[in-house]
Amino acid sequence: MGSRGTIAHGETRRARLAGPLLAAAVLVIGLAVTLRTVGALHDDQRAAAARVMDQRTAVARAAVTAETGRYRDLMQAVAAGLGTNTRLTAGDFAAATAPLETAGLVGATSVAFVVATPSGEIEETERFWRSRGADGLTLQPRGDPDLHLFSIFQRTLNNSAAVASGIDVASAPEGAAALLEARRTGRPTVSDAYVLLRDRNVPLIHRQLSFIFVAPVFTAPAGDGDLPSFQGWVAMGLRGQDFLGGVLGTASQGLLDGELYATDGQGQRLKVAAYDAPGRRDLERQATFPVADHQWTLLTGADSHRLPGARNGTPTTVLLGGILLTLMLAVLVWVLATGRSRAREQVLVATAELRSAEAESRRQAGLLGAIMASLGDGVGVVDENGAFLLHNPAAKALLGVAVDADRPDDWQAHYGIFRPDGRTPFPLEEMPLVRALQGEVSDGVEMLIRNEQRPDGILISVDGRPLDPSAGQHGAVAVFHDITELRRYENDLAVFAGVVAHDLKAPLAVIRGHCETAGDELADAPPGPEVTEVRAALDRIMNAVDRMAALIDTLLAYTTSRDAPLTPRDVPLGPLVAEVVAQRTEHVRPGAGPPPDVYVGPLPEVRADPAMLRHVLDNLVGNALKYVPPGRAARIDVTAGPAEPGWARIEVADRGIGIPADDKPAIFESFHRARTAAGYAGTGLGLAICRRIVERHGGTIGVADNPGGGTRFHFTLPLAAPEAGDPGADRDDRVALDRALSERAEAEAAALPAVGEALRPPAIRPPCVAEAPARAAAPPSSSGAPVLRPAVAAATPRRTPGAGPAGTA
Ligand code: ADP
Repeated sequence: MGSRGTIAHGETRRARLAGPLLAAAVLVIGLAVTLRTVGALHDDQRAAAARVMDQRTAVARAAVTAETGRYRDLMQAVAAGLGTNTRLTAGDFAAATAPLETAGLVGATSVAFVVATPSGEIEETERFWRSRGADGLTLQPRGDPDLHLFSIFQRTLNNSAAVASGIDVASAPEGAAALLEARRTGRPTVSDAYVLLRDRNVPLIHRQLSFIFVAPVFTAPAGDGDLPSFQGWVAMGLRGQDFLGGVLGTASQGLLDGELYATDGQGQRLKVAAYDAPGRRDLERQATFPVADHQWTLLTGADSHRLPGARNGTPTTVLLGGILLTLMLAVLVWVLATGRSRAREQVLVATAELRSAEAESRRQAGLLGAIMASLGDGVGVVDENGAFLLHNPAAKALLGVAVDADRPDDWQAHYGIFRPDGRTPFPLEEMPLVRALQGEVSDGVEMLIRNEQRPDGILISVDGRPLDPSAGQHGAVAVFHDITELRRYENDLAVFAGVVAHDLKAPLAVIRGHCETAGDELADAPPGPEVTEVRAALDRIMNAVDRMAALIDTLLAYTTSRDAPLTPRDVPLGPLVAEVVAQRTEHVRPGAGPPPDVYVGPLPEVRADPAMLRHVLDNLVGNALKYVPPGRAARIDVTAGPAEPGWARIEVADRGIGIPADDKPAIFESFHRARTAAGYAGTGLGLAICRRIVERHGGTIGVADNPGGGTRFHFTLPLAAPEAGDPGADRDDRVALDRALSERAEAEAAALPAVGEALRPPAIRPPCVAEAPARAAAPPSSSGAPVLRPAVAAATPRRTPGAGPAGTA
């Protein structure tokens, strides 16, 4: 087990490690692949950018070369055109240069016809060219060079500002050098960069370096052998910045930066113009190309991110996508790889929990079994169909049957279940387990079990309950115990009480008889102080005897209230209360105090044992009459109050001394007397007897303060069955109840003939329960309350009920 555990533990650890390791591997590989891919994409992009840059630079270079070539060719064409005319006029010049206006010569300022004039011939030259149409020509020699180079005719291009003709180009050495070079070589040329004479007045910030394109004008030789005769030059000014901006902007679509450098006569590179495209320059190219007899250099630069097709968001997308995919894969691998071990762990935990739960439930079951085995009470549990799930050993021992009957129908015969009378088979529907299966609770149901193993029979008391829902199934449980001995003991006690009461009361009757005889004897004796004293002594003896007799009656009533059989009948309450009141008040001595005021309201007919009911009423009315402050009249109301359907509620209210709140809860306990009862005769048993009687009838009894002072007792009893009408379920119940009660009475009478006899009320004397109030009526002689005739005179015939004060109230 130990080595298996270690191996399992090792496996679990390996499994636990494998998951994270695999996930880490996937993470590393995934990231490496992603980075490699992104790197390759970047390389591709760089290569693409370089390619695009090369293409764009080539295009830009070609554009610049083509444009300069075109300018040069145009100059040559114009020069050739002018050269065809030996008599060149302003009109000829205008006609020859007119096409230039629409040739789209970016950066061109003007085109001019320039002639060379020695210093001495300026005026003559001026006149000559005026005559050729140069109106208002004024030659403006600058400095004092040998040869002045005057512009004669002029056409401004691209809406440049018009400048008067006649300026002396010789004042700009770069321009003069270009002119002379062109004349010398007979070919078009371009000057070094310089600021055109026409721009020298513009603010420094707007000034640009420019060139002039020059072509010499020769007229054709007049005859063979003649040399072409030089006429002058066509010169076109070109602003470097405008030119570069125009050409490069169009050629590169605004994507390339550019710087144009021209190499001057001294071989020095001079930056002529710069064009700025938006963006950060990270690619550069350089191209050198010939323009006329000069070398120009074009430096281009670009922001690779702006070159079309060179840079895009693919690498970033690939990077993010790759990282995301890698993470997801790693998580997936981790989940898959550790899933098994996690599931295994969960299974282990669940198994451990299950094991401990199983052990716990085994322990509980063992405990329950032990409790059941050691219980003295019998316990039986059935399922919802009445099949026995459990019968503890005590149950089997009590019932004397080892094998259970599983169908409720068989129970009666199988176990030998009878009513307490020992004869009537116990009805199935009244069995506590059967009632519990229908959701009813029953307590203290008495049954007699008599079968082969229990030939003498035992009396058991059974409690039935529906099975608690926590048991997880429907069913019922019954708990029962043997009450045979208890009953026997109770009966013995009752017999004993009866015998004691009878034997105690007999000598008392003898004493009283002798006292009465002695009293009669004294009636004839001559009056004197001794006679008076003896008579007083006799009275005291008789009072004591009466009190003792009353006490014995109360104790007897206390016993019978519990054990005497009930014989319920329909009893009209009104006449009974009137009778009790009348009996209670008939012996009030005249002048012993104000007469009691008793009101008896309309009262219903109830179903009760008349003798016991009378005892209850007598006790309550007796207490109400007794517990009044000395010298005050008792005021009593006996009324019926609202109650549950089928029940009567009777209230006995008084305006007496009341019961202190802390005494109320115990007032119905045996022998409890309130502290306010001091000075009033009593035993503290009367209310205990009342409670027993009321509860044996299924009712309740209670007490409350009477608003306005005094006490208000109430108790409930079943209403009498309605006279007419349909004999419904209530009546059936009542019949069943009556039958059960009388059966029980019979059984007890049969079992205990002596007590039965002692407790059965004799026909000719008031029932002993009805005698009990007499003891309460024995008042302290000092209280001045009405003195009632002691009921201990057992032979006193029962008074005919008549209308008492209640009837008139
Ligand atoms: P007792 O024989 O003392 O009257 P009971 O059982 O009849 O015994 O009454 C118990 C106690 O309840 C009395 O001692 C008394 O203190 C109190 N009691 C009963 N009825 C009344 C009442 N109507 N007014 C005031 N106190 C009462």
